[in-house]
Amino acid sequence: MPNRRPKLSPPPPDADTRRAIAPVVCYPPETLPEPRNLGPATPTGPVTTTLAAPRDAATFRARAGQTIRITSVDGPQVGDLNLWNAHDLTERFYSGKTRALHGTHVTTGDTLWSTLPHLRPMATVTYDSLDWYGIDSYGGAVHDVIGTRCDPYTNALLNSGDQYHYCCHSNLTRALADETGLPLHDAELLVHDVLNVFMCTGFTRDTGQYFMKASPVRPGDTFEFRAEIDLLGALSACPGGDCGAEHSSDTTPCYPLKIEVFDTAHTATHQPPNPNPYDRNHGR
Ligand SMILES: [Zn+2]
Repeated sequence: MPNRRPKLSPPPPDADTRRAIAPVVCYPPETLPEPRNLGPATPTGPVTTTLAAPRDAATFRARAGQTIRITSVDGPQVGDLNLWNAHDLTERFYSGKTRALHGTHVTTGDTLWSTLPHLRPMATVTYDSLDWYGIDSYGGAVHDVIGTRCDPYTNALLNSGDQYHYCCHSNLTRALADETGLPLHDAELLVHDVLNVFMCTGFTRDTGQYFMKASPVRPGDTFEFRAEIDLLGALSACPGGDCGAEHSSDTTPCYPLKIEVFDTAHTATHQPPNPNPYDRNHGR
């Protein structure tokens, strides 16, 4: 097995026995509520349409019970998604716990959870036209909740101080500042780790390193989710395009992403999620 670092510790005599212990799933999700009303949604009223331009981000608002549909148009493109409680921007999408509960990638039926101390459903993925993809022979899958977001700080660290201003982190920051009127640097602090819609990623089996590969998304593919609470969202059309080669530059062909928000037959009877049952006592 290739190593990224020299190993300084010799294996103990029972190393193979320890390695052979079977894993257990950390968070068996069987006690979570079953997702409802899955499948491609049909609008029952006006559709609000927004376009995230290439290497830029757009915001959208959705009321609880409405459906948000993200569609690939023109060419294969990855989108970095942020979600906030529309009435309290400190409650936002929690990619880490979503990953722990559902896996490294999300698809039809998975919940998008909010940050502590709320930890409640923000949205439910109701339809994913790429759910046929599964896990490929490299260990890659689509709709990544591993990969934070491309950002200019990491780019500057890895590329001799290079100043690139259209990473998803910056695109989301500008879009949130424009939507809310917050100063740019205040908005930046509310930008968080994303759901990488349409992005195909995994970890290399031999070194455990995060990898990306050209997304299988094609124009017409859709990713739909239902707002469980009133949402403010922002979507960045990643400068990496289909993320098959590189990001954090203007090198790769980049395409827009369409965002639609609409009512469905289930919107009027939507039930908001229960608050998290923990009492916040913390042992005091
Ligand atoms: Zn990006």
